[in-house]
Amino acid sequence: MNTWDVVVVGAGQAGSAAAWDLAAAGQRVLVLARTAGAGKPCAGGVTLKTLNRYRFSIAPLARETVDTLYVSRFPHQESALKAPAPFCVMTERSELDRYCLDQAREQGAVFEQTRGIESVRQDENGVMVTTREGKQYRAGYLVAADGANSKVRHLLGETSWKGAMAIEGHIDRADLKHYPGMTLDFQAIKGGYGWLFPKGDHINVGLYIWKHGLAPTDRKALDQYCLQRLGVKPHKVSGFPLGTWLPQARLQQGRILFAGDAAGCSEALLGEGIYGAVLSGQLVAEALLAGKPEKYRDSLQDWREELVKVKQLSALFYGLLPVSVPILKGTLGETLVDGFSRGYTLGQCKRRWRGATSLA
Ligand SMILES: Cc1cc2nc3c(=O)[nH]c(=O)nc-3n(C[C@H](O)[C@H](O)[C@H](O)COP(=O)(O)OP(=O)(O)OC[C@H]3O[C@@H](n4cnc5c(N)ncnc54)[C@H](O)[C@@H]3O)c2cc1C
Repeated sequence: MNTWDVVVVGAGQAGSAAAWDLAAAGQRVLVLARTAGAGKPCAGGVTLKTLNRYRFSIAPLARETVDTLYVSRFPHQESALKAPAPFCVMTERSELDRYCLDQAREQGAVFEQTRGIESVRQDENGVMVTTREGKQYRAGYLVAADGANSKVRHLLGETSWKGAMAIEGHIDRADLKHYPGMTLDFQAIKGGYGWLFPKGDHINVGLYIWKHGLAPTDRKALDQYCLQRLGVKPHKVSGFPLGTWLPQARLQQGRILFAGDAAGCSEALLGEGIYGAVLSGQLVAEALLAGKPEKYRDSLQDWREELVKVKQLSALFYGLLPVSVPILKGTLGETLVDGFSRGYTLGQCKRRWRGATSLA
């Protein structure tokens, strides 16, 4: 039987962030996942605050660097919000996941591919994981970083929540009349937005809704948006839920701790999830390295509180789009992109905006 200090299930952004820190501190870490970074539906937009959290540069992966955000109340004309400095880089998510896993492996983490997890058992001394191939692994702790449809959560009988939803596709640049900047078309779908993310040789297009069930996020809806917006249908279409349930969720069950979308760490307003995944992966590693797994919950508390407020803001924002988009196109949007270009979170930007408007 294989014995490890920590088994991490999932080689996405949360799993690799946790594995990097644990391995760098000398822990024997096994990352078990279905793939080493292929096929996770994601638009690959990585904000500056996330870049600041990585333990390494992801500069080789940047396909575009963004300093201007275009926003519209679709189908009305978009407005440009220009930041004083870049605030986001556009990556291909499969490349990003492979790269981050490779960085963790360079620190000493070991990766094994599995078709899936069959069972997870724990006692006072450790955790036993059995894969669908029948292989068994024993570890002191398990980090469940297996995404919004977490199998580990399911096996442990944890409540399954319904979060946000998104669907994405690609359009080749050669098929476009105009190569757009980073664009959010609010109202392209009820309770959400359509996006255009430039990636050099293609653009990533998609639809996001902040709460499950508000509108269909299927191929038909995405085709319709793309035809109306760009006159072309996308290819490579796939959809996936996002975990936005951190405000309600348990983060730990005994020796098993949840990180990333498995813990519900994505924010609900725009559906940015890579930051919460990297943050929670690093914080779970910190708690385990300190020998105090129960402190993980405390260290994520600030992020949890921010996500509660972002959910309240999302209900207001998407409930009142004819009012909120014009506000976003004004001082709110300028403060947002300015804050993003300083590496701030949404909550930090909002506090600055409040300060600015109360002085005005
Ligand atoms: C269409 C779409 C677009 C998005 N665009 C953006 C964006 O531009 N920017 C942004 O910040 N966020 C975006 N998000 C959100 C972001 O993708 C997620 O929040 C983020 O991927 C969560 O990372 P994670 O590591 O927690 O989980 P995941 O990235 O889902 O990784 C889970 C890992 O677990 C593995 N796994 C799953 N099940 C099993 C199993 N049973 N056994 C073994 N391994 C398993 C998978 O192979 C994978 O390695 C988007 C989401 C969607 C759906």
